[in-house]
Amino acid sequence: MDFTLSTEEREVRDWVRTFVQKELVPREQEVLRRERDGKPGITSDELTELQLKAKESGFWGVQTPESHGGMGLSAVMTALLEAERKSCFAITEPGAGSDAKAIRTSARKDGTDWIINGEKTFITGGNEADFAMVFAITDPEKGANGGVTCFLVDRDMGWRSEYIDTMGEWGPAALIFEDVRVPETQILGELGHGFDLAMQWIGRGRYLLPARAIGSCERLIQMGIDHANTRSTFGQLIAERQAIQWMIADSGVELEALRWLVLHAAWQVDAGLDSRHAQSVAKLYGGVKANEIVDRILQIHGGMGYTRELPIERWYRELRLLRIYEGTDEIQRRTIARNLLKGHVKVGGSLG
Ligand SMILES: Cc1cc2nc3c(=O)[nH]c(=O)nc-3n(C[C@H](O)[C@H](O)[C@H](O)COP(=O)(O)OP(=O)(O)OC[C@H]3O[C@@H](n4cnc5c(N)ncnc54)[C@H](O)[C@@H]3O)c2cc1C
Repeated sequence: MDFTLSTEEREVRDWVRTFVQKELVPREQEVLRRERDGKPGITSDELTELQLKAKESGFWGVQTPESHGGMGLSAVMTALLEAERKSCFAITEPGAGSDAKAIRTSARKDGTDWIINGEKTFITGGNEADFAMVFAITDPEKGANGGVTCFLVDRDMGWRSEYIDTMGEWGPAALIFEDVRVPETQILGELGHGFDLAMQWIGRGRYLLPARAIGSCERLIQMGIDHANTRSTFGQLIAERQAIQWMIADSGVELEALRWLVLHAAWQVDAGLDSRHAQSVAKLYGGVKANEIVDRILQIHGGMGYTRELPIERWYRELRLLRIYEGTDEIQRRTIARNLLKGHVKVGGSLG
């Protein structure tokens, strides 16, 4: 069994690490200062500038096919990059989150157009998006079983967004559709097959969430190590204390385990295998462990960990989301338990 990364995979990963060190880390203190003052940590002009730099270096649209201007990278490669999804993907509604089949947003046929009415909520990127992928009921009798369709709806077709204040720094949006007229050409995929499409996308890309947490955890654990190696109490470095060593050790082990779970799920995607179980396992483990790791690193920093002068409390808030979106911990456990109890997946059978 060969676990080594290819030369190309290593080069792309190292390139991203250099980009983060050179372009992002130096901005950290200024971002924290602005957020402490209640301002956005990064302005939209600065974000555009960073995106341009990434584009100039050829690092953009990592999963977009090369024919469409992206990099067309494999899933393993994407997992190594902590790719950030930019799309505004609108399925959740005030009355339909985990139970996505309960959506009520409707699309009614009018000539060759469709008229959309309804409200979506908690939509990541919904405040900034120029268009939304909106899932609406086109056949109420069939509902999620052949009666939900995905529409690509430009903002200038008439929907509006409202910012939702959360404990994170990037607020999602509520999207409001009141008689929004959409031409038939805006249907994505086939009429009535939107729900399957949504489940396929979410199921295929779930590994990206814990993949992103790996980057945060690497940085956090390094901060914990650096602090433990410089902070003394009672005449001794805290790194010499077993209580601190165990926190570092557990965090290091869990980070390694998470990395392999994510890469295994990504490998299954690249190999064209059914990766749904592996993705749920990686998402659940990543959400739970990233939250335990950030809590330990905050603890190692004592009072300073609790301040907004260090980025730890920010991660503490941001990583909490991982246990909620794209399927809560409870929903992942439900999927994993169902697969095991019904024999869809054998215990210990992940290698076939
Ligand atoms: C910041 C943020 C960004 C988001 N981005 C997007 C986005 O871009 N697009 C989008 O469409 N959605 C998005 N969401 C929505 C997100 O996917 C939902 O919030 C999530 O699926 C949970 O749904 P809910 O909030 O309605 O909770 P509910 O479904 O009401 O669940 C409430 C609680 O009950 C538990 N529960 C529910 N059903 C079961 C069950 N059968 N067994 C055991 N426990 C259960 C849940 O785990 C949870 O603990 C986002 C959410 C947030 C907070």
